[in-house]
Amino acid sequence: MNRTATAALLSLLLASCYHSQEADLVVHNARIRSMDEAGTVYQAMAIRDGRIVELGPERQILNRYAAKETVDAAGQVVLPGFIDGHCHFFGYGLNKQKVDLTGTTRWNEVVDRTAAFAEAHPGNGWIIGRGWDQNDWPMQVLPDNALLNIRFPDRPVLLQRIDGHAAVVNQAAMDRVGLDPKKTIEGGLMMMKDGKPTGLLMDNAVAVFQTIFDEADEATKRKALLDAQADCFAVGLTMVCDAGLDVGTIELIRTMQREGSLKMRVYAMVADAPENLSHFEKSGPINDERLTVRSVKVYADGALGSRGALLKQPYSDQPDHHGLQLASRDHFLEVARWCKANGFQMNTHCIGDSANSLLLGVYGEVLGGTNDLRWRIEHAQVVSPGDRNAFATYSIIPSVQPTHATSDGPWAGKRLGPERETHAYAYDDLRKTMGLLALGTDFPVEGIDPLATFRAAVYRQDADGQPKDGYQPANALTAENALRGMTIWNAISTFTEKDLGSLEPGKHADFVLLNADPEAMERSGSRVRVMATYLGGERVY
Ligand SMILES: [Zn+2]
Repeated sequence: MNRTATAALLSLLLASCYHSQEADLVVHNARIRSMDEAGTVYQAMAIRDGRIVELGPERQILNRYAAKETVDAAGQVVLPGFIDGHCHFFGYGLNKQKVDLTGTTRWNEVVDRTAAFAEAHPGNGWIIGRGWDQNDWPMQVLPDNALLNIRFPDRPVLLQRIDGHAAVVNQAAMDRVGLDPKKTIEGGLMMMKDGKPTGLLMDNAVAVFQTIFDEADEATKRKALLDAQADCFAVGLTMVCDAGLDVGTIELIRTMQREGSLKMRVYAMVADAPENLSHFEKSGPINDERLTVRSVKVYADGALGSRGALLKQPYSDQPDHHGLQLASRDHFLEVARWCKANGFQMNTHCIGDSANSLLLGVYGEVLGGTNDLRWRIEHAQVVSPGDRNAFATYSIIPSVQPTHATSDGPWAGKRLGPERETHAYAYDDLRKTMGLLALGTDFPVEGIDPLATFRAAVYRQDADGQPKDGYQPANALTAENALRGMTIWNAISTFTEKDLGSLEPGKHADFVLLNADPEAMERSGSRVRVMATYLGGERVY
């Protein structure tokens, strides 16, 4: 053996020497699914300064590292921290300070809950509620404000549908805002009866009341963010993609992250508004360790439940109606050009087949061909088969929410008819276009639990195991693809894959400890639970 070889062997021996390396944390006796390219499974990993230094077999890691803290996972499963690809993190937190109207079974119950909230929060301020869904009621009719006007003659009340695309306001609320029923609102509808508004508002008409939300003071906003963070850590989320925030909220998030109170990683999509865009045109994108701002959230249409989704052919259950286009094609083109010029992704909410078609066309016109700009279509809910190729042609990432499929499944066919329904919630067909999908929940429209996403994606079933054979099971994702969609593919969709999304040396130590492998989860019934959540090597749950 020559001298160089001897030296090399010697240094190798020294490097693997017992406890020769320092670590802040060693997790061992685990089944670590790294979600790296090859899908490698490890037994142990060492973490230093918030990042993973090494993964490997049990003895190798335990012998090599002197750790300040050692966690024996007792054979449990470790996955990369979950990323929600599309949610409303801040809105969810604010909701916790509103009347929760989810699960109500009739309009009377909505009004009763609102009255109980008003009694507990006396005064003359606004009462904001969210969560009703007429599709869950016996009559399935959209409500009006008659009952609210009787129960709340003076205090302004705004009650949003679960999807936020429709709302009922009482007369006091309309008076306070000074809503003129004769004025038309572009991209919005104010329902009228006998020449008078019924109080039911759709889409941009709801946005007129946005000022109320924006009035929330800083203490309320801070509490909202911290409340949302606590709930998210408890279900294993270590990054959230907030689909539409204004400059003020983004700055508050950055401030709280710098103070250390807000630890959650946030990918904030900038809400499409002139003041937001002109701000980021000057400041440029943000690529902080915990905050990424490099995308604009645009709305093409409304939601299917409130018939705001823009369809090529009329609604099957309302033959004179195609839904709503929320802005002109020229506007979408203008934002697209802005995004391309300023290095931002364009992430557009598209539910109906016509909205998807329109925006894929706009993207194509500006992008011109394949690229690495990672523009996204949010929801991509009803996509005509003929439009699907555009995702691959222009490298567009579909960002979908599997729990929408199982929540909408019972009534989607009524809106769409049997033929169109087969092109809705077609997640595996969409995955095949680009070879990846961003998975999210759209919470608070759905629940926040990423494992519900897994269940809905793989088994096409809701939390109660319904429907028994799965909703349109041909479009189920494999367990492996669902987990990738909740981790590494979401990292790719946010340009953070160098640091996040899989457990590999050099990446942030964001991971969850589960009591079982979701892949081995029973088809229905047995539930996987998050036992601990780590973000940057720190235990946050
Ligand atoms: Zn959304």
